[in-house]
Amino acid sequence: MAGKEPRCICGSCPSFNECGAKAFCFDETGKSKCIKEEKGCLCPSCPVQDKFKFSHTYYCIRGSDKKQGKK
Ligand code: SF4
Ligand code: SF4
Repeated sequence: MAGKEPRCICGSCPSFNECGAKAFCFDETGKSKCIKEEKGCLCPSCPVQDKFKFSHTYYCIRGSDKKQGKK
C-alpha cells in the first residue's frame, strides 16, 4: 500500500543499522552514528530521492545530499 508522502526506505537497506535515525539525505538528519559499512544503498530507488531530486548515495556514511555537493 503506497502512502501519500514518499517514505525513507533505509529500513530495508543491507547497510542499515537501527540507532534511531533515517532519511540521512536531509541536512537536518546528519550522518548515522552506527552505520559504518557500505554494504549496498537503496537510495537510488527511493521515492524521496526522486521527489527532492537528490543525486547521491550512502547519505548515512557520506553525509546529506547537500554536503556531498552538486552533481
Ligand atoms: S534517499 Fe535514502 S536516506 Fe533519503 S529518504 Fe530515501 S532511503 Fe532514506
Ligand atoms: S542512506 Fe543508503 S546506505 Fe544508508 S541506510 Fe539509507 S539506503 Fe542504506
